Amino acid sequence: AGGQDGEVQKAQQAAEARKEPGQRPPTIFSKIINRTIQADILYEDDKCLAFRDVAPQAPVHFLVIPKRPIPRLSHAAAGDTELLGHLLVVASQTAKVEGLEDGYRVVINDGKQGAQSVYHLHLHVLGGRQMGWPPG
Ligand code: C5P
Repeated sequence: AGGQDGEVQKAQQAAEARKEPGQRPPTIFSKIINRTIQADILYEDDKCLAFRDVAPQAPVHFLVIPKRPIPRLSHAAAGDTELLGHLLVVASQTAKVEGLEDGYRVVINDGKQGAQSVYHLHLHVLGGRQMGWPPG
């Protein structure tokens, strides 16, 4: 059985290697979800997690991620509608708790040109300073 398991593992690894990087969870965010690595968690429920960005780009900068690892927004499907809506509502409620009553920005970076670096879908919420437009 060990040999068979080895073959299955090899086939899985080969399938994994054929994928583009944007289709390859788990990422560091999976480790935040399962508490393998530490994060400053602001909110959690059965579907999502909000935590402070380790490299904040504004006085308040947190991320909202689904627990189910959708790699990127462009991989979202019709079946994800409710989950994506939930992420926005959690972003809004957490922004309120963080005191962002003068407004804030919500960003989703998708893929190479969107400057996405972690391929586990996440909403950035940035606030506590005046934002500019257009973004870089
Ligand atoms: O949208 P993008 O993929 O570029 O953003 C990833 C974000 O995840 C970055 O803002 C980075 O600082 C943050 N990050 C984090 N904790 C980690 C690794 C990355 O907050 N352990």
